[in-house]
Amino acid sequence: MFFTGAGMSAESGIPTYRGQGGVWEKYDYRKYATQYAFDEDPDRVWDFHDERRSLVAACSPHEGHRLIARAEATCEQVTVVTQNIDGFHRRVGSRHVVELHGNLWRSRCTSCGTVEEHHQAPRAERRHRCGGWWRPAIVWFGDAIPQAVVDEAVRAIEQCDVLVSIGTSGVIYPAAELPLLAKERGAHLIEINPEETAMSHHYAEHLRGPASEMLAQLVPSA
Ligand code: NAD
Repeated sequence: MFFTGAGMSAESGIPTYRGQGGVWEKYDYRKYATQYAFDEDPDRVWDFHDERRSLVAACSPHEGHRLIARAEATCEQVTVVTQNIDGFHRRVGSRHVVELHGNLWRSRCTSCGTVEEHHQAPRAERRHRCGGWWRPAIVWFGDAIPQAVVDEAVRAIEQCDVLVSIGTSGVIYPAAELPLLAKERGAHLIEINPEETAMSHHYAEHLRGPASEMLAQLVPSA
């Protein structure tokens, strides 16, 4: 089981949210990543997300993402539970991926509930033909993770023998506590992160360095 956060995609050039150079140092999340902010000014929130889409569109998955996808070929069963919304794990061919916080390329109509995925950056239409606003189909601050997604993640986590957490600061709940379910069931926990985190003490092993280099130590490349 790989449990990934924003640090997983840092080497692709996508800034993390916390830590040095993090997005929330520059933007106040309350104005850009809450349902309240969207209700107040959907265009402001879309401008922010269009900027994110353009940034992600200009980046590519790195060797670490590919190593995780390759692990599916050598290990009996591999699941990726990610907090990332960039879609990079699927893009490199990982098949069992649970996207806890949704996907930046999916939008949901706030009026009729239609969901669609396309990769325009920026997004051409901000309103669905029914007249409702599209909103990014991602989990903002204060949103609940859809129950079916939580259930899928919990099922996979409870069954895993080894959980490798990569690039997550471990402060966003409920995602942060999911690895602890694996620990309770006797799994071996490995943390990959250049820095110590709020959850580090729960892990049996720590690989202090960037995701791609540390994954190369864990996953055979061929
Ligand atoms: P975070 O921004 O809170 O923390 C990032 C962590 O990654 C830090 O602990 C940092 O030390 C570590 N890190 C930095 N560079 C690294 C590297 N090269 N290799 C490994 N680790 C590295 O991230 P979070 O815990 O995932 O929480 C932020 C939330 O924001 C997530 O829920 C996610 O949905 C969202 N987010 C997604 C993306 C993305 O899709 N790429 C980017 C930013 C934020």
